Amino acid sequence: MTTPPFDFAQAEYPLAPLTLYKVGGPARWALLPPTREAACDAYAWMVDQPGPKMVLGGGSNLLISDEGFPGIVLVTTALDQMESLGDHRYRVECGVQLDRLVQEIMLQHNYEGVGGLTGIPGSIGGAIYMNAGTVNGSTCQWLESVDVIGPEGRRTVTVEPSMYGYRGQTFCPPRSLILGGVFRFTPAEQDQRPIYDHYIRRRKEKQPQGNCCGSVFRNPEGDHAGRLIEACGLKGVRRGGAVISPMHANFIMNDSDARFDDIVGLITLCKATVKERFGIDLREEVVIVSESAPRT
Ligand SMILES: Cc1cc2nc3c(=O)[nH]c(=O)nc-3n(C[C@H](O)[C@H](O)[C@H](O)COP(=O)(O)OP(=O)(O)OC[C@H]3O[C@@H](n4cnc5c(N)ncnc54)[C@H](O)[C@@H]3O)c2cc1C
Repeated sequence: MTTPPFDFAQAEYPLAPLTLYKVGGPARWALLPPTREAACDAYAWMVDQPGPKMVLGGGSNLLISDEGFPGIVLVTTALDQMESLGDHRYRVECGVQLDRLVQEIMLQHNYEGVGGLTGIPGSIGGAIYMNAGTVNGSTCQWLESVDVIGPEGRRTVTVEPSMYGYRGQTFCPPRSLILGGVFRFTPAEQDQRPIYDHYIRRRKEKQPQGNCCGSVFRNPEGDHAGRLIEACGLKGVRRGGAVISPMHANFIMNDSDARFDDIVGLITLCKATVKERFGIDLREEVVIVSESAPRT
């Protein structure tokens, strides 16, 4: 791999501090573009390089190997511009924190949708890529269009409901880059502030606080991964510095310098035990980045 021709490239860049799990080794190269144009140049260069590549947003849904990432990581944190386009529409760059969108735009203008997006960590890019949300709604439902750059170039996609679903979408394949999107909101009749306060409080009461990725597994159709894991008696089970939360079985916490293998060991245990007891295959929601390529 050649040395990246950018002053925002960093060699052997530590990734653990960029994730909420606080686990993982360094990237061979990290590209930290300061603007959207720089991100397009970086992406266009990166896509032609041999070896693995990935995009990192807020790092709230990533589990990275202790070996690190032997390729190029494009980090979106600095792409954090938001602008009003009028008529309840906003252009939002991928590195903006989702919580900033909720607080500075949705709450400020009392838009609908606060209940679905409150308290979810991470960036707009990650929230769009994962279609992050809750039973009350998800990110892509407020998205009018999205700017994506992939190996074939840059395009703006008009977003339709058929293009997204539970924790996923079809307009951005793995390793393409969501540069940002245009959101269109609807003024709400009901005051959204108490809804926000309610869901913040609820998360504090029901979810463990600490280093984690939120829900490790997707909920299987008609059931809850946490319920299944709990029914298998796995709450509180520990491997090294990682533990299946005694508070919420779908959360695996790094509570004392966990290693990648500790967390993966508990993921494997949950999958095997739930399969044996209920015949259900749990699927990871967390994106595991190991060896040469992310598993998505
Ligand atoms: C305490 C806690 C609670 C959580 N609660 C919820 C919840 O209620 N609902 C929910 O849906 N999720 C939840 N999550 C998971 C996580 O916050 C979301 O998945 C979040 O949207 C991920 O965004 P991110 O920017 O952190 O993405 P990252 O973790 O950085 O990346 C996740 C994936 O998105 C890709 N990606 C990131 N940015 C881009 C981009 N610009 N272009 C292309 N691909 C990109 C990455 O390559 C990776 O595959 C929770 C996590 C935590 C720690």
